[in-house]
Amino acid sequence: MKVMKFGGTSVGSAERIKNVANLIVSRGRNVVVLSAMSGTTNTLVEISDYLSKGNAVGAKETLNALEIKYAGVIAELYSTSDAVQEATEAVAKSISFIRGLNERSYSSLDAKEILAQGELMSTALMNIYLKEQGVKSVLLPALDFMRTDKNGEPDTEFIREKFNESISAHQDAQIILTQGFICRNAYGEVDNLQRGGSDYSASLLGAAMHADEIEIWTDIDGMHNNDPRFVDGTRPVSELHFEEAAELAYFGAKILHPTCVLPAKLNNIPVRLLNTMDPDAKGTVIYNAGATHTIKAVAAKDNITAIKIKSGRMLLAYGFLRKVFEIFETHRTSIDMIVTSEVGVSVTIDNTSCLQAIVDDLKKFGTVTVDKDMVIICVVGDLEWQNRGFEAEVVNALKDVPVRMISYGGSNYNISLLVRKSDKIKALNLLSERLFNK
Ligand code: ASP
Ligand code: MG
Repeated sequence: MKVMKFGGTSVGSAERIKNVANLIVSRGRNVVVLSAMSGTTNTLVEISDYLSKGNAVGAKETLNALEIKYAGVIAELYSTSDAVQEATEAVAKSISFIRGLNERSYSSLDAKEILAQGELMSTALMNIYLKEQGVKSVLLPALDFMRTDKNGEPDTEFIREKFNESISAHQDAQIILTQGFICRNAYGEVDNLQRGGSDYSASLLGAAMHADEIEIWTDIDGMHNNDPRFVDGTRPVSELHFEEAAELAYFGAKILHPTCVLPAKLNNIPVRLLNTMDPDAKGTVIYNAGATHTIKAVAAKDNITAIKIKSGRMLLAYGFLRKVFEIFETHRTSIDMIVTSEVGVSVTIDNTSCLQAIVDDLKKFGTVTVDKDMVIICVVGDLEWQNRGFEAEVVNALKDVPVRMISYGGSNYNISLLVRKSDKIKALNLLSERLFNK
């Protein structure tokens, strides 16, 4: 059995829901994980934002618009009155739950419950549609088996046990449907795996059931070798190593959520990125093998800030880096790139909410320089250090672009370069030309 996950746009309208239903039925008995219909989670965030600000009218108006949208989907999707009634009741349950919340007693728990309604509605609509088509589908509530622990990390033991129990109770089901994104936390409260977390759900469930494969269905034909928004003529990469995919997902390839890779990698389950608009296209497979000795893709991560700390005291001193890193730890800010020399260290961060405090603390140890509006360009492939020439080629491609930092050798799979935001498109294009269009 496989896990097939469909994102918001894949189930974004009645027509798309029908297409996806046909697609999953044609592929046999599998676990199907759905996101909320596209736009819904954002609308739910907006509603909860209004409530948290005490604006009940704003919340109500936004909710009414959502209700109308779903009524339209229901009217278009079903042909029998039983299905219309069942779907109307399922949606009404979510809408009236939100409508019943009081802005005066509103809490962060309510916010999480509001967000959960998107996936609860999309899966209910799909399940009712499949049943209307005569498909034996079963909807397993993710809240029964997706759970996080006290650190907010997935409780993989619990998930494995409960999910397998749930599946085995439905041996005769043709399709096993469940919600992505939503879970309960260690206190039993409704929670979620963070925005975009449906990919993570799919991967965790794939790992829990030892799936043959985890399929992530979107509306692009796999992970491309460069960002198609900025570079013409990009191509899907047919194979990626888990580590390469993790780097690309983290450094900007939006098609896959970075957290998705680890559970699949740990359990050695291939992840396949497929396109609902072109289901027979090969897409990208992410696994433990694949081509070696090649550069496979380039990605860019925006909104990066570089911080340089220069200090004569660093020279021949031990413990200097620890002190520097402790400052970032204290301010709960993670570091992406790091390069050092004997007299200084440069790091990059993408979360600048504590930038001023970090800089103030760092000034105790040296002279601090901050460069904002930077971009990390990440080149991914089999870059094991004994493979000759790749780093030269990358640096050469960028010979006309000012490069602020270069990081190589941190893993066997990546070279990262920090450039100005204004040079990003130029850098991406130069790399494609040099690396892929030879
Ligand atoms: N619906 C959630 C979101 O929009 C989860 C997901 O789509 O992966 O973030
Ligand atoms: Mg997504």
